[in-house]
Amino acid sequence: MTRGRVLVVDDSALGRAAVADVLRGSGELQEVLEAEDGFGALRRMAEDKPDLVVCDLVMPGCDGLQLLRLRAAKPELAGIPILILTADGELERKLELFDRGASDWVSKPFDPRELLARVRVHLRLKLLAEELTVANEQLYRLSCTDPLTELFNRRHFDDVLGGEVARLVRYATPVSLILCDIDHFKRFNDEHGHQLGDEVLRAVASTLVRSVRKADVVARYGGEELAVVLTNTGAAGAFVLAERLRAAVERARVTSGERGLSCTASFGVASAEDAVSVSSAATLIGRADAALYAAKRAGRNRVVPWSPALELQG
Ligand code: GH3
Ligand code: MG
Ligand code: MG
Repeated sequence: MTRGRVLVVDDSALGRAAVADVLRGSGELQEVLEAEDGFGALRRMAEDKPDLVVCDLVMPGCDGLQLLRLRAAKPELAGIPILILTADGELERKLELFDRGASDWVSKPFDPRELLARVRVHLRLKLLAEELTVANEQLYRLSCTDPLTELFNRRHFDDVLGGEVARLVRYATPVSLILCDIDHFKRFNDEHGHQLGDEVLRAVASTLVRSVRKADVVARYGGEELAVVLTNTGAAGAFVLAERLRAAVERARVTSGERGLSCTASFGVASAEDAVSVSSAATLIGRADAALYAAKRAGRNRVVPWSPALELQG
């Protein structure tokens, strides 16, 4: 049994009733909607999102062909199949309907069994297409997600940072990168075990996510190193945010029995406000990394912004 919602389009009330009665009589459909011409059909397609349209070809005003033509300009309606009812038995005419985007046609007068059989086929195909879309979206999400922290993974980070640097080069939109590395994490694992280590890593990840704007992208760069790409943010804003992140990580607690465990992290910040100083993602990453290394050397649990002097220190 194929469930679905079908929109019946015909200017003649008698013609609509003939189709709608067959569809309703089958007891298989969730809902049968009606419209009197192509314009009404387009409106209902946009508002009610039916799973299939069964449309008479010849109608005054906007006929079946014009409905197909108008629908072609609305990509959001492309997934709704249109089955045309036509008394015109000419092959050329039917081929034109397919060319214009019809999914199928049924000759008038129609045999109710054939109409129902074709309606079932198209509802089934529509359902399969929807399931495929959902599966693809899930796969895409998985391909971008780090399983342990549920942050974006390195692949997505590279895509995002590449896109932001391209925007910087083309439109001079500033971009900043914060690299965050948990302090003495090896020691933490050795003392408390890897599982608690994992929990701390997850806690740091969610602390960062909670502390940034929606447009900013938090990713697992690798191991216990996390990265935040700040869109449309220059050096001053990035430093303030990194300091807020550092303090939030320091405050965060993971409970283990009676104890509340905590950690600190060090942060390196690099910003690009024009394409003269930075024209590649690799340069920005290199600078954030150099700043992070300086933060570690300076005693950890701190934020260091990149400056040319860091390169001289090596
Ligand atoms: P530093 O302050 O210099 O960053 O010291 P560190 O010990 O954090 O740095 P180091 O690079 O020597 O060690 C990184 C540690 O991070 C070692 C590794 O076991 C741990 N680590 C990396 N990824 C994971 C993970 O997914 N889970 C856990 N529990 N530990 C991880
Ligand atoms: Mg590290
Ligand atoms: Mg570390």
